[in-house]
Amino acid sequence: QHAETWKHLNKHLPEWLEESKKYTEDGNVAAYIPELASAPKDVLGICIMDAAGNTAKSGDHEYRFTLQSISKVFTLILALIDRGEEVVFSKVGMEPTGDDFNSMLKLELVEPGIPFNPLINAGAIAISSLIAGSSPDEQTNRILHFFREVADNGTLDINQDVHKSESDTAHRNRSLAYFLKDNGVLHHDVEDVLEVYFSHCSVEVGCADLARMALVLAHNGFDPIRNQRLIPRRFVQIAKTFMFTCGMYNASGEFAMNVGLPAKSGVSGGILTMVPGRYGIGVVGPALNNKGNSTAGVHLLGKLSQEFDWSLF
Ligand code: GLU
Repeated sequence: QHAETWKHLNKHLPEWLEESKKYTEDGNVAAYIPELASAPKDVLGICIMDAAGNTAKSGDHEYRFTLQSISKVFTLILALIDRGEEVVFSKVGMEPTGDDFNSMLKLELVEPGIPFNPLINAGAIAISSLIAGSSPDEQTNRILHFFREVADNGTLDINQDVHKSESDTAHRNRSLAYFLKDNGVLHHDVEDVLEVYFSHCSVEVGCADLARMALVLAHNGFDPIRNQRLIPRRFVQIAKTFMFTCGMYNASGEFAMNVGLPAKSGVSGGILTMVPGRYGIGVVGPALNNKGNSTAGVHLLGKLSQEFDWSLF
């Protein structure tokens, strides 16, 4: 059955991508981080990887972009590894917000001062502070090492231009961090925590890296290619649950309805998703819809999900 699906997928992927590509015209690239504003609007690429490491690729799959919010899935996992569930969930909640990614509105609702979940910016900043290490450099290196391990790519690195651009203009993230500090959620220096946060958001990848990382999540933390457990199953379960309920900003419900897979998007236009037990998927399309997700990327995933009946429901 896998062979049939794979053949069908490889045969039709270019035409489905082409068809989705026209949706790039409906979106706009993120401009609030100046360095992201220069991204080409008409890019669309995809890489799908099976458990043997075979890939189906199409379009601009070699285009390079930064992880942005996609990194939050993996810093959450690393914080769980470093501190355990109890500590992590004393700093962030478990509830979706249905708000924009950088919302300040609902910060206080779960318990006083605790961000709703680890995928909104406030929650992710709290998570960055939990990564083991005695300096921002040590914490960043630990994160980078972990990303490289999961992606099976030792060359992954920080895009310094994006990092600087984000840091220079991060007034809202700074205010979120100060608010968290005031509420006793952050114990470190605010600028130190933000340095770690900007660094992991600025790690540069391609679609194949996303697909490779997603493949490990699709197999519950076990890497089927290297035949090795990288992440405890429980922590992947937690991460995937958050991806499902809040991975696509305030369009998470719509994505669950139309695609039905755990996913995380970022403002650079990347989407990491997976078919549990089977494929890891990486998509990029920098033109975003008004919810902050790749317009063409979401369309392409909807098409694939429909075609192969991938929805979990
Ligand atoms: N680094 C970005 C920010 O904090 C991530 C936003 C995103 O991808 O949602 O603004």
